[in-house]
Parts: sequence; C-alpha cells; structure tokens
Amino acid sequence: MIKIHPIETGQLRIRRMHRYGLGWDRWSRLATWMLVPGFAAPIPMRAWLIDHPDGPIVVDTGETLRAQDDPEYFPPDQRPFFKLAFRFQMTAADEIGPQLLQMGFQPEDIQTVVLTHAHMDHSDGLHHFPNATVFFSRREWHDANNNSRTHGAVTARWPSDMTVEQVDYVPEPIGPFQQSFPLTKDGRVRIVPTPGHTMGHQSIVVQADDLIYFIAGDVSFTEAELFSDRVDGVTHSAKASQETRQKIREWATSQPIVYLPSHDPDSPIRLKNKQHISKV
Ligand SMILES: [Zn+2]
Repeated sequence: MIKIHPIETGQLRIRRMHRYGLGWDRWSRLATWMLVPGFAAPIPMRAWLIDHPDGPIVVDTGETLRAQDDPEYFPPDQRPFFKLAFRFQMTAADEIGPQLLQMGFQPEDIQTVVLTHAHMDHSDGLHHFPNATVFFSRREWHDANNNSRTHGAVTARWPSDMTVEQVDYVPEPIGPFQQSFPLTKDGRVRIVPTPGHTMGHQSIVVQADDLIYFIAGDVSFTEAELFSDRVDGVTHSAKASQETRQKIREWATSQPIVYLPSHDPDSPIRLKNKQHISKV
C-alpha cells in the first residue's frame, strides 16, 4: 500500500509576470517578469512524502524560514534580485522537518529525497535530511551549479556534504515516457524527465493499485494550466514545456491520472478524492 502526503511549507508571493509569463523567449519573459510591477496571489510551496513499503521517499523539500527572516540567507550576488522577486509567508513550524516529525517520521531516517528541480522553494529544505541520498536529474545538477546566479537555486546554502545521485534514466518506458528511473524495487515509484520549466526538470510517477499519481513539480502551476499554452515567467523552454504537457494530457486519455503540481491549491483535495484529469 502506497500513500502520498502533501506537505505545505508556507506560501509564496511571486510577481505577476512570474505567475503568468509574457514574452517570446526566456530572456524576454525574464525582462517582463522584472519590469512589470505587482505580485500575484500567494501560492503554496509544497513538498510530498510517498510512504512506500521500501521506506519513505520525500519529493522536494520546500522553503526554509531563513529565506524570509535572515537578511543574509541569499548570497550577495543573488540578494537584490531575490528581494525584488519574492515575498515569503511562513513560520518555523512550516518547514518540512518539523512537519515530518508531527506526522511521525524522523527526518534523519529519510534515505531518499528526490528533487523535481533545484528552484529555492523546492530545495531550500535539503538541510533537514542529513542521511538521505538526493536524486537530481543530471542536467538539473549541472545547470544549478553552473548558472547559480540565474537558475533560481540557492546552491551556496545546500549542505556541502550531501550525498547526490545524478539520475540517468533507463529505457524502461512508462506511458508516453520512453525512459524512467525506478526508485523502488517494485518499480511503482519512478522518476520521468519533464523538461520545460527547467531543462532538467523531472516528475515522479506513482503507480497505485487503482490509479497513477503524477507528482508534477512545476510542469504547470495548476491542473487547468496543463491545458494552456501559457508558461510561467521563468520557464526555460516554452516548446519543451508544451511537449511535456502534451505527453501528460495524452496519457490521461487512456489512463486515470491524478495530477499533483507543487503550487496548485487544489492538489491535496484532488489527491484525497482521487480526482483524475478529466478535461481531455
Ligand atoms: Zn520552479
């Protein structure tokens, strides 16, 4: 029996043109993001726990209170930009470590953490898992570490001694995905590449008895936007994003899929009600 738990690590306000990108390529979207004033409504910063017989798996690690309260959290070269771009709304109890304890899991016991991508609101909680192997896609690990000023990851604050596994997908198809990476012995929990938002973005497919759960990271911010041509303001490739979304939409025509993006306020209720993608 596999059970999935949502873990909301507070809320984030992003700029309006981050929420809804405007521009013909990444750089024009980034310019619009910064130039157009105003913030969108708060969105949840969500991580997930997959409770599997092999052991619990954490997907993304949420935000840390330090991003909100410690003026020196962001390194000097990233600080002005992050201050301009984000407004955090969280408390110490929102961090993933305390929440896991509340749920009966010791963060130190967690062996497996998977990141959908390296953006700060997905990776800033990595320090809660000193004994885990952290699964990044090979591309995401490279891009976050080589473009740290523009990738949106606070790599300087990641634990320097963390154990990283760079995922190499293998030719084990699942649905429309030709390659995947099995995280469990039974193959029911798999990572699949879902580029677009970042080029190394990945999602987690959980095959339960009755349904497939698709932990989508930032493939789209909501389920409705899975059906939209519009991308967010930080998306690296709109074309790759549309191809990824198209694969998921097509899969949903032949297979009940519960779609769980990180920032969709309705993901937990869809999870609870096993409400699958229906607009197909
Ligand atoms: Zn993101």
